[in-house]
Amino acid sequence: MTTIFSKIIAREIPADIIYEDDIVLVFLDIKPINLGHTLVIPKEPSIDGTETNPDTLAHMIKIAQKIALAQKSTLGCTGVNYIMNNGSDAGQEVFHTHLHVIPRFPNDGSFKHAVHCEFNPNEVPIVKDKLIESLNK
Ligand code: AMP
Repeated sequence: MTTIFSKIIAREIPADIIYEDDIVLVFLDIKPINLGHTLVIPKEPSIDGTETNPDTLAHMIKIAQKIALAQKSTLGCTGVNYIMNNGSDAGQEVFHTHLHVIPRFPNDGSFKHAVHCEFNPNEVPIVKDKLIESLNK
């Protein structure tokens, strides 16, 4: 599937590319949460991180850590978010897997805490058992 990110990989549209290797391309987000907000994408297309080759995913997080260290040392950020939205219900808008690496600063005014759900404590063991069963298949 063609996406804006596959066009960036093909150099059909411009991007502020800051790193590239055989597996990933890394460029600045066009609408940053803070300046230096970076996206790490795999060159091999996958729709989201639930479908990406696990070795590729592991490489993406390894590169994200390098980016985060560069952001800390050069931009002076005091925190970094690694965020991957998988699926539109999780906030994904571009359907080519990508990992956000977002530099954060004290009181930068952006999101800090997720909204937590109300839940029935009796449902916790049911959910827990379902996940354990699936993981042990
Ligand atoms: P998500 O909501 O996780 O799918 O995030 C998609 C991200 O891609 C957003 O933060 C956009 O600002 C960013 N984005 C979309 N188009 C471009 C582009 N042409 N160059 C760089 N970043 C982009």
